Amino acid sequence: MVNRRDFLKICAAIGTAATIELYSADIRDIFTQAIEAHAQGDNVRLIWLAGAQDTGCTVSLLQGSDPDLIDVITKFRLQLDFHQTLMIPEGEAAIKKLEDIVNDKSRVDVLIMEGAIPEGYFCTVGEIDGQPVPIEDWVKQIGGRAKYNIAVGQCAAYGGIPAAKPNPTNCRSLSEVLPDKTVINIPGCPPNPDWMTLAFAQALQGLPIELDEVGRPAAIFKETVHEGCPLLGYYEEGIFAKTLDGPGCLYKLGCKGPLARADCTVRRWNQGLNSCTTAGGCKACVEKGWPDEPFAPFYEEAAEIPPSAALGINPILIAGAATGAAAVGAVAYAEHRRRKHKKEAKKEASA
Ligand code: SF4
Ligand code: SF4
Repeated sequence: MVNRRDFLKICAAIGTAATIELYSADIRDIFTQAIEAHAQGDNVRLIWLAGAQDTGCTVSLLQGSDPDLIDVITKFRLQLDFHQTLMIPEGEAAIKKLEDIVNDKSRVDVLIMEGAIPEGYFCTVGEIDGQPVPIEDWVKQIGGRAKYNIAVGQCAAYGGIPAAKPNPTNCRSLSEVLPDKTVINIPGCPPNPDWMTLAFAQALQGLPIELDEVGRPAAIFKETVHEGCPLLGYYEEGIFAKTLDGPGCLYKLGCKGPLARADCTVRRWNQGLNSCTTAGGCKACVEKGWPDEPFAPFYEEAAEIPPSAALGINPILIAGAATGAAAVGAVAYAEHRRRKHKKEAKKEASA
């Protein structure tokens, strides 16, 4: 188990790719420490709004097991004041929770946005004085008051499917609607539950989070899906699958793993069981501009692969900094891991 000091060290060093593996192994321990740190503090007041979306991000978060959502909410002293799917109050009582914040009768610490934000009356939540209230208005009012604004899922982070061309409802991301606020983007369709809980844990601890050029926690979204893929050896040997169940690399069947920066193939999904490249191929759902070209068509070979996609490092710091040594370490580690995976995949291919 990591102690509190180690936890702080891990979080401070989130710029290093190596910490991804520590997080995977120790996420429960991290939360144990976070729970202890918050045991005496105030509740963290959280509002979860949903715009143009399908509740997939909430469902993904509900699938988290280490810790599960109940652990996160109850032991971590989260006070979830509004979540239209999970909350017990309904109707006027539910909308009053939002009105109280807007009228400064209640505080909000964190706004979590799920879904894209359509223009005006294309998406409304509740009524005030008999008038429907556009989600955009709630987002501006509540996000403007929150200490942290977190966009969960591709739609809230970058617009996603609702904002795909021609975007008839003018769907926008959280950062487009709140241009003056720092937004932590946790993209994915849906995001891995670990990504969400790690971002929440760090933000709630007030710890520095290093973001990349599109607002994602750099440690999670640094290397490509392709780099950690168990099928990488096939790709490098030019062995391409003819059908989605292989054998061979799925690139020519439309896998966009080389375009996607996320730790999916290392962290994996479903309690570490698998990820998309062993279940039909990656669609690059964590990237800005998805699902339009170059990410579509889904089942056709990508037109081009950016040569430096794997190691594109252009971090923006909210607070704190990864050291130069950490950045160098990340690059070295990525290369080490790339070689290791290549060797393992080769072994698998020849077995
Ligand atoms: S299946 Fe996709 S991610 Fe895996 S090696 Fe092939 S192109 Fe890369
Ligand atoms: S493997 Fe690709 S499609 Fe699957 S979650 Fe990761 S980025 Fe999205």
